[in-house]
This record gives sequence, structure tokens and C-alpha cells, in this order.
Amino acid sequence: MFEAIVSLCLTLAEGPCRDQLLPGYEAETIEACTGSLAASPPVFTTLEAGSVQGAPMCKRAAEALDVTEVSPGVFVHIGRIEEPDSTNRGDVSNLGFIIGKTGVAVIDTGTARWMGEAMWRAIRLRTNLPVTHVVLTHMHPDHVLGMAPFAAAGAKLVSHANLPRALSDRQANYLESLDRLIGTKDFLGTQIVAMDTLVMDTFEIDLGGRVLEVRAWPTAHTGTDLTVLDKTTRTLFAGDLVFHRHTPALDGRLVGWRAVLEDLKAMDLERVVPGHGGPALDWPHGATAMVRYLSVLETETRQAIDAGARLGDAVETIAQSEAEHWELFEAYNPRNATVAFTELEWE
Ligand SMILES: [Zn+2]
Repeated sequence: MFEAIVSLCLTLAEGPCRDQLLPGYEAETIEACTGSLAASPPVFTTLEAGSVQGAPMCKRAAEALDVTEVSPGVFVHIGRIEEPDSTNRGDVSNLGFIIGKTGVAVIDTGTARWMGEAMWRAIRLRTNLPVTHVVLTHMHPDHVLGMAPFAAAGAKLVSHANLPRALSDRQANYLESLDRLIGTKDFLGTQIVAMDTLVMDTFEIDLGGRVLEVRAWPTAHTGTDLTVLDKTTRTLFAGDLVFHRHTPALDGRLVGWRAVLEDLKAMDLERVVPGHGGPALDWPHGATAMVRYLSVLETETRQAIDAGARLGDAVETIAQSEAEHWELFEAYNPRNATVAFTELEWE
């Protein structure tokens, strides 16, 4: 497969630069790609135009993301259970796509533009149908920052009604910190674009003979959580409402998260794709470890508050019995204990 790219540089004088994918010109031959580029040249935004070096050109397609087909037409890329760094280049969260008869929907887009581009290639290796929708399961940067190539290709971006505000409050921080963690060369071109559809309750996406139900949840993992149900295979993309292997990360409300998990457990599902780990968990059995962790976190946080413990001391002891069950425990459990303590202290 051949694809169109343009060289995008941080500063035209010194770089760094990277090949930015121009989605939609993929072809079997370089001549066909070059022909379609000439027939309908790309239009750059003012912002991009200042960073583009040279003319768009066609070359052999770069690397596609690895994906697993967890049920017919449902594909998942499994992120590493790691913090983003220059070695994994931010490939630390699960993303997926679902192919219908008339279109494709993407669920989450990764930590940087390159992941959205590599996901686009993974889709193009399997179908030529248009990507009609991209659903962002919540505001965290490892799930949303690869969105721009899909928007450029004409996909509608779908999020929780609270996401635009939440993301605009945090975007400067997210973009700066991920650029530093991953490295500018791999992060170049990453940008946040406007949402097209905001979901307050539920929203249906019809992919042709295949309907997805998007559902917005009360504050749980974050204040912007959405799930995507493929009704055909009863596969639920849970985003970070469900963690597997990776220590759960609390950035919303502990009590709310526990209630949402009970609702998820009651759903009649074949499998759940978690935001980290997996790629697919049996259900409701797959909820067991999460339910236990959040229960221990709440019980021991309440005990610490009732005993008059200071926050700084309490975070050292809360939920320590869970350490053996989770990866990245030291990075996430103290933060979770802090959020839980602050929430429950003022109840
Ligand atoms: Zn998250």
C-alpha cells in the first residue's frame, strides 16, 4: 500500500521533522496515489501551513498498528502496561475499531498523532469503507491525542458532553507533558480538534447492518466516561471504566465508579474490552478484580479517616494488600488513595 505524506517540522530551519500522514490517498500503486493527490490536493490549516516543508508526496505506507480481532469485525490494539516514554512512544492504551457494511467506527485514538495514523493504516489494510465516527471514551491523553488524522479524513468525533470543557482546561498541560515524555520528534503534529457530537445520555451509530450504542456515565473514572456497545456481538468497549493488569486510576469519584461498575456488571455482554490490558474479558467475571480493588480502596480510606489519620500517612497504607494483583501499583495507588481520601473526607 502507498500513502500520501507531508514533512511537518517544529521549526523549518532546524526541525525536528516527521512525515505526517495525509489520510485518504491510499492506493495499491505509487502512480495511483500520486494521481489522486494531483486530482484533489490537500488543504492545510493556517497552523499546519507554517510547519509544512516541501510538497506532499506518495511513498510506501509506514507501519500499521497491530490489532487483534476479538469478535467478527471488532478489532483491538493492545497498549503496553507502561507509563508513556520515548521507548514505547506513548503506546500504552487500548484502541479499537468496528467495521460495519457501510462504515467504520474507531474507539479511542492513542497518545499522539502517530498512533491515530498507524490505526488508520490498520483499518485501510482491512477495508476501504469510510471511517464515519471516532468515539473518545474519556478525556485522558493516552486515549484522545491521536484524534486529528481521523477528523482530517472526515470522521465525526463523538464524546461525553463534559469532554470539551474538561479537555480545554487540561490540554496545555497534556500536550506539554506528553511532548516531554514521548519526545518532540514522535509527538510532532499532535493536536486537539473540536468535537462534532456531544453525548449526555445515549447515542446510536449505524454502521450499516451494525448498530453501536454509545452511553454517557455519571462521574466515575473521570467526569467524561463513555462506553460503546456493539449490539451485533455484545462486545462493550469500556474505556478506563474497566482496567485489567494495569492498576486502576481514579480521576473522578470513587463512590460513583463503584456504582457504575455495578451497572456494567448487570449488562448482558459477551465480552468487555478494557482501556488497559485485555484485550477482551469474560463478563461479568472480568469485573471481579476491579470491584475488589475499589472496595478495598473505599473501606480502608474510610477507616483511615475515621481513625483521624493524616492524608500523607494514610496514602502509605491504604489498599497495600492489592499491590500483588496489579502492575504500576506504586505509580497509581498513592494517587488513588489521595483522591479517595479527599472525596470521602468531605462527605
Ligand atoms: Zn483514563
